[in-house]
Amino acid sequence: MKNYQICSCCVMDTSDPDIQFDSTGICSHCKEYEKLKKNRLIKLQTNFDDLVVKIKKRGKSHPYDCAAGISGGTDSSYMLHQLKNSGLRVLAVHYDSGWNTEEAVHNVKALTEKMGIDLYRFSVDWEEFKALQIAYLKAGVIDLDVPTDHALHGGLYKAAADNNVPFILTGHNMETECVMPQSWVTDKLDSSNLMDIYKQYGSGLKLKTFPLQTLFTKFSNYNIRKIEMIFVLNFVKYNKKEAGEMLKKLYGWEPVRVKHGESIWTRFFQCHILPNRFGVDKRRAHFSNLILSNVMSRDEALGELTLPIYKDNFEQDKQMILNRYEITESDFEKYMTQEIKQHSDFKTEKGLKNAYAKIRNILPNGMLNISTRH
Ligand SMILES: [Zn+2]
Repeated sequence: MKNYQICSCCVMDTSDPDIQFDSTGICSHCKEYEKLKKNRLIKLQTNFDDLVVKIKKRGKSHPYDCAAGISGGTDSSYMLHQLKNSGLRVLAVHYDSGWNTEEAVHNVKALTEKMGIDLYRFSVDWEEFKALQIAYLKAGVIDLDVPTDHALHGGLYKAAADNNVPFILTGHNMETECVMPQSWVTDKLDSSNLMDIYKQYGSGLKLKTFPLQTLFTKFSNYNIRKIEMIFVLNFVKYNKKEAGEMLKKLYGWEPVRVKHGESIWTRFFQCHILPNRFGVDKRRAHFSNLILSNVMSRDEALGELTLPIYKDNFEQDKQMILNRYEITESDFEKYMTQEIKQHSDFKTEKGLKNAYAKIRNILPNGMLNISTRH
């Protein structure tokens, strides 16, 4: 076990087992961020205005120029505001996982109504989704948000395909989501991993409405339908604090209290399960991103980290989750203390994906894409 060390620039520490420090105490995440920032400056030559022109050009012959994933959090809400102002014909897409917080529901409604944007909602059958979430809990792996993120991705592509829309725009951005230790997450779109976990720990209920992203589905979306996913906030100047204030003033938007706190399950997972079972406090990564993008000072972050991670809803959230999962407190405690498993203990798409990447490398650029990063 390494000795405890915290970065002298951000607040990442040795709770990331792969972190490295240079002689001045600066961590590998900060170095990576600097590298990315340099690349991003080059990328900004294709700025937002150019991006809008590109989207309008291809969108012209379609019912909407683009579909935009909206969760109700700051990033996607700000994105929607930017898209609306640029004159794009937007179809807002909202995934209701069954765990949406009141703030998220309110924000999605307020934003789309006040902007006059069409809204496409989608959800997965609750019994299916529940069975999948419980399977992950029972399996003992770290990334319990895979079912949510996988469904979100699949739902966005389904919305685009159903409505014949050529672009999917999302509020993900490297500037606020660059720092994330690899051991804290897994590939959210690995359908083999998901299905193997479900096969071993699921209830046996057939997944009929869950939008499973198999390699074939991904291939078809990226290469046949040629639906392009773009992380819009990589193309605009974005200050999270200022964005939140502007959204409040213009649309009566309400801030969500923790990052990804649009979902009660995600809040419980990030604020209770991750720190107590896996020793992971995701605030470290989120604050480090904010420090690196000059939105928060390191002292402010250190101060925040001394506060309890769960604000005031812990008991209420826990009871709601146990009730809705129909599991007892002692079942839950058993899952919280059982042996930890790695995602790599289950089947994975990695081998196939790597073989695929090799083939792709000898083909013209962009062909046979199975990754969506732009
Ligand atoms: Zn650092």
